[in-house]
Amino acid sequence: MAATSTAPEIEDVVRGWIDDNWDPDMRLGDWWQRLADSGYAHPMLPEHAGGKGWSQSQAMRVMRAIAAADVVGPPPGLGYMLAAPTIAEHGTAEQIERYIPPILNGREAWCQLFSEPVAGSDLAGLQTKASADGDEWRVTGQKVWTSQGNIADLGMLVARTDPDLPKHRGMSYFVMEMDQEGVEVRPLKEMTGRTFFSEVFMDDAIVTNDSMIGGQGEGWRVANTTLAVERASIGAGFAGYAMAQPGSKINAFDRRVGEVVERSKRPKAGGHAPNVGMKLFNRYRQLAETLGQTSDPVLRQELLELYSILQVNRLNLQRARNKSQRTGGEGNIAKLIDGELHRRFRDVSLRIIQADGMLAGSSSATDPSIAELVLHAQAPPIYGGTDQIQRNIIGERVLGLPKEPGYDKDTPFSELPRNA
Ligand SMILES: Cc1cc2nc3c(=O)[nH]c(=O)nc-3n(C[C@H](O)[C@H](O)[C@H](O)COP(=O)(O)OP(=O)(O)OC[C@H]3O[C@@H](n4cnc5c(N)ncnc54)[C@H](O)[C@@H]3O)c2cc1C
Repeated sequence: MAATSTAPEIEDVVRGWIDDNWDPDMRLGDWWQRLADSGYAHPMLPEHAGGKGWSQSQAMRVMRAIAAADVVGPPPGLGYMLAAPTIAEHGTAEQIERYIPPILNGREAWCQLFSEPVAGSDLAGLQTKASADGDEWRVTGQKVWTSQGNIADLGMLVARTDPDLPKHRGMSYFVMEMDQEGVEVRPLKEMTGRTFFSEVFMDDAIVTNDSMIGGQGEGWRVANTTLAVERASIGAGFAGYAMAQPGSKINAFDRRVGEVVERSKRPKAGGHAPNVGMKLFNRYRQLAETLGQTSDPVLRQELLELYSILQVNRLNLQRARNKSQRTGGEGNIAKLIDGELHRRFRDVSLRIIQADGMLAGSSSATDPSIAELVLHAQAPPIYGGTDQIQRNIIGERVLGLPKEPGYDKDTPFSELPRNA
């Protein structure tokens, strides 16, 4: 194993494996299964959970090799990004066996049932309750902002199992089946025109004891793993391989993988906002040159600032990979930078295309992806924990500043005043 994890070899090994296994005529379900069996689908997971136990930078090299070979990447989504690492860390052997393989081969899609109408930044104030009923728990409450709730098979649910304990101590973390009588998913339409998230209402929904991750009352600890992985993944960037959505509801398993690759290259209106990295920077710089705008001193200044932030981002990620330099705040910093980059890319792109930016999607004469980016740019500073919350965490946990005063930390949740 060590031989394949040293400097330039990962890319060669992965490339060799792809040459032996990829066939553009094979079905997506078969390709995802092969990728899962090889351990390359999610190399950061430990070997007993289907990975290779590799570091983030090694995993990133695998993903870059997949992108460079122009083949379909592993099944994306919240199962892959959040549930798999959380269950690998806190789940029992049975839970790892039950939940992780269908994430890695794309058979099951997941959503994250954390935020509620009165519990976003203050997640520990959540009110959804789970009451014991024999080997099961009955869940009642409401979740909001549930990304991909409408296509999910399973959800990572945090619910209050003991309201008489202080708020951080009375929660548990479950896996909830989304297709059941007590769960109603109401999709919401965003200003981007897409339906990315939903509200989820639970009325006597059932979760089992077997699906509780990390033990009763351990919900906050387990949720913090999910949140830390989320911050780090959002900030780490994306290698840029071809993708298809996983899960039984999308049911893309019979698609030809060659067709998935071709389709992912076509620019499409109503698609996802582009990734904010050097590739996009170079695209917009070239667009500015083509439109004869690079003599505008304000635009030049903004492009240079953007370039500098991209470099800071690169250095921060490099530091995150080096144990001796790490401060513990790199994930929060990367998440903050990601929000800032989205704002900057939004402003720079609008300055370049000017009034054309008012035309959405394919109506734009210059670059249809800019309207997507402009509408999407408001989301990154909020999801995965807002900018203010990242700064609070850096202040308290990295710089050691005094914690926010909180009378609610030791009081039983049932005795706390509520605003809804
Ligand atoms: C596109 C998108 C997708 C999302 N997907 C999911 C998902 O799949 N699952 C899920 O569970 N959630 C999801 N979220 C929810 C997201 O995690 C919350 O929106 C976020 O945590 C903020 O919570 P809130 O919206 O309730 O705002 P609030 O917590 O009400 O915050 C309002 C404002 O007050 C500030 N604030 C709050 N507390 C403090 C404090 N202590 N110090 C300083 N400032 C503070 C905040 O920074 C913010 O500016 C998603 C959000 C978005 C935008």
